[in-house]
Parts: sequence; C-alpha cells; structure tokens
Amino acid sequence: MTQFIKTCPNCGQNLVEKLQNVDVKQDLKACYAESIPVLVCENPTCTNQEKYYSPFSFNLLKMKCPEINKW
Ligand SMILES: [Zn+2]
Repeated sequence: MTQFIKTCPNCGQNLVEKLQNVDVKQDLKACYAESIPVLVCENPTCTNQEKYYSPFSFNLLKMKCPEINKW
C-alpha cells in the first residue's frame, strides 16, 4: 500500500490541505477536475511546489478521471 506523506520532504513542515483545480495529463488524455483537496507546503522559503494527494482526494480524482486508474 502506498504511503501518503503529511510533511514536506524538502523542509519537513506539515503540509496544508487546499482545494485546487487539477489538470491531469497522461497518455495524451487530459482530465480537468475541480475542487480536489491536495496537500501543499506553505513554507514561504521552501521551493517544493509539489501537490500531494490524500487517499480521499486520490479516490475523488480517480472518480472524475477514470483514465488515471493505472497510477
Ligand atoms: Zn516544504
């Protein structure tokens, strides 16, 4: 089972949950999903711009974008 992280691997700060619109592009298929909860680092001095998905938001994203099921 995949481990979902709660702290930034770059600076160690706790990630903050935000609602974001997500663009998914995989295998030339694109999906646009609105208001997906993602975990982001809000440390202003951190360069990590990665968005992390919790299990809940990942399932929500898979429902809206069935083509990403192979992730
Ligand atoms: Zn960070």
